[in-house]
Amino acid sequence: MAETLEITGISASPGVGVGRVHLAADITADALALGETLAAESDKLRRAVATAIAELETLADRSDEESTGILDFQIEMLLDPALVEMAEDRIVAGDSAALAWFGALDDYIAGIEEAPDEQLRARAIDIVDIRNRVLSALTGRPLEDFAPGSVFVGKDLEPSIFLAHDWTSGGGIVLFEGSVSSHVAMLARSRSVPMLVATGRFAVPAGVRLLVDANGGRAVIAPEDADVREAKSKTPATKPSAARREGGVIETADGVAIRLSAIINDPLELKAVDPASFAGIGLMRTEFLVTSPADVVDEERHYFIYRHALEWAGDAPVIVRMLDLGGDKTLPGLGARRSESFMGLRGIRLLLARPELARAQARALLRAAVHGDLGVLLPMVTVPDELDAMRTFFEEERADLSGSGVEARMPEIGMMVEVPAAALMLERFSRSAFFSFGTNDLAQYLMAAARDDHSVAPLYNAATSAVLRVIAQGMALAETMNKPIGVCGEMASDPRHIPALMAAGLRHFSVTPNRAADIRSTIGALCSDGRTVAERK
Ligand code: PEP
Ligand code: MG
Repeated sequence: MAETLEITGISASPGVGVGRVHLAADITADALALGETLAAESDKLRRAVATAIAELETLADRSDEESTGILDFQIEMLLDPALVEMAEDRIVAGDSAALAWFGALDDYIAGIEEAPDEQLRARAIDIVDIRNRVLSALTGRPLEDFAPGSVFVGKDLEPSIFLAHDWTSGGGIVLFEGSVSSHVAMLARSRSVPMLVATGRFAVPAGVRLLVDANGGRAVIAPEDADVREAKSKTPATKPSAARREGGVIETADGVAIRLSAIINDPLELKAVDPASFAGIGLMRTEFLVTSPADVVDEERHYFIYRHALEWAGDAPVIVRMLDLGGDKTLPGLGARRSESFMGLRGIRLLLARPELARAQARALLRAAVHGDLGVLLPMVTVPDELDAMRTFFEEERADLSGSGVEARMPEIGMMVEVPAAALMLERFSRSAFFSFGTNDLAQYLMAAARDDHSVAPLYNAATSAVLRVIAQGMALAETMNKPIGVCGEMASDPRHIPALMAAGLRHFSVTPNRAADIRSTIGALCSDGRTVAERK
């Protein structure tokens, strides 16, 4: 039995969880390193391809007709000796099996992406899937989920893996690196999954019991039952549920109406949220809805999700944000490399560079708009041309849908205000129907401090005054434009920031549903200028 040992870290999502350790396998240098002989490398590759084919066949057996078609195509590609032979040429030239496969497939994908035929270009995404599946078989890095109730321990965790996992059985997350401001940390907070970051690397065998006491900023390897009981006994009591059921419009102490909308990262969250508690959805992130590149261009899949959200909201508005891939939300083959991509081809930049992605989502949004009050939010807008280019996609796709007799409606198109240049020049964006401040990114770009890099967390955390000043300037510019404006960054879900945001003039807050009770009571206790009644006297 492992010895009891305490590890300290930073709490990224409060709570206490206990479970068996699931150790994330890093793609190590070993996995990419060269084997002893060319024949051994070649053999490794052929075995990995055979594993991938077997996995795809199993998946195809339990899939619906449409998915089976895609999987059959992937199987056929892998059965074609040409792909393996291309990789083997690289093995002969000195690459390891993994590098050779990666390089050969990347070249092949790049070729398809350049093809003039849009249908062929869309196939590139299936090849990316094939590339990753074989790579996973070669490197031992699982594509599969881990057991419910486990504690995930690793260097970092991708949002897509977080979302694919069933957290209802408990467990938690302990990351050697990671950051409080990363997307996965936000997801953990919204799902109440205890999470610690920045513990530094420590050794722990897979399967050992691990206590994640994120309230106390510590993890305990092989805890005694008494340790677990004690940590759980210190968990603060949750607010009474009645407070959570109050409506989506709150009156301040001086009688000003403030709208409270929900942030939704995954349609499954809607089951647990009462629509009567919110003035609709203020931010529906869509990048977490896609777990494979094939999902991104799956118009039907997008359509059903958005329609479901609109039906949930009834008459209230639903603001769906278009895919904000890039940064720490990468999908293999679609974005730039993670560490570089916060400043690169992220959000609307990627959507405009890969129109087939934007157009599939735009078509789904246009069709869904028929079912309720839909707004579309564009991520990472920096200059007005980006907004105009996306609007043109919507207009063209709308014409195409109407031409084919498909019911569609143009939604209102607004923009995130999260790039400083846009926030400072808001009057240039007169064609945006509404604005939403994204304080998470505004903070990282103002401070030049990546939100997922723990080593610059103190700088990121020091952004508040600069963010508030930019918001105040943006509000002044927006006032003359008479456009709806709100805030959907994490600052809006933190009661400490509410007075300053109200003082800046904000009247629409989009918040993580499990923080709404706190935010509601904070707003209700303040006057519209962010001061209490006593402070005003
Ligand atoms: C933001 O940047 O504040 C925001 C809401 O978007 P995201 O966190 O998804 O980047
Ligand atoms: Mg953002």
